[in-house]
Amino acid sequence: MEKSGAGNEGKAGMAGGQAKGHVAMKIKTNQNAGFTLVEIMIVVAIIGMLAAIAIPNMIKARNTAQANACIANMRQIDNAIQQYALENNKRDADPVTADNVREYIKDKIMPVCPAGNVDYVLGGTVASVPSVTCPNENSTPPHRLGRRTNP
Ligand SMILES: [Zn+2]
Repeated sequence: MEKSGAGNEGKAGMAGGQAKGHVAMKIKTNQNAGFTLVEIMIVVAIIGMLAAIAIPNMIKARNTAQANACIANMRQIDNAIQQYALENNKRDADPVTADNVREYIKDKIMPVCPAGNVDYVLGGTVASVPSVTCPNENSTPPHRLGRRTNP
């Protein structure tokens, strides 16, 4: 009995509080709903700033990925040249062609630079430095095989 009475009192108290809160809410909702032009312009400006930061980074990521793939291809060709020279008892000045090297590359398909699918240029001899170059050598980042091409 006592418990139920206390519950009723509590409910009555809450009902009074809700009524007051409802009045306060009603005053707020009487204002015009939605966003102002300035608010929308701020949101659009923030989205534009984020896009301006993100898009150049995406382009840079593509160039870096292409350069890394290109260097990996040239390393594979360089290794194939040395394997060809070793198996065929070649000396440093002996010539080497793409047809010689192709036999030592998987599936006998000479890789191409992923930036434009251009063919690589071999150094000419077994011991040429650099042993292989990319036509996109001077792009950013450079398509150069390790330290071997540095003067
Ligand atoms: Zn390349």
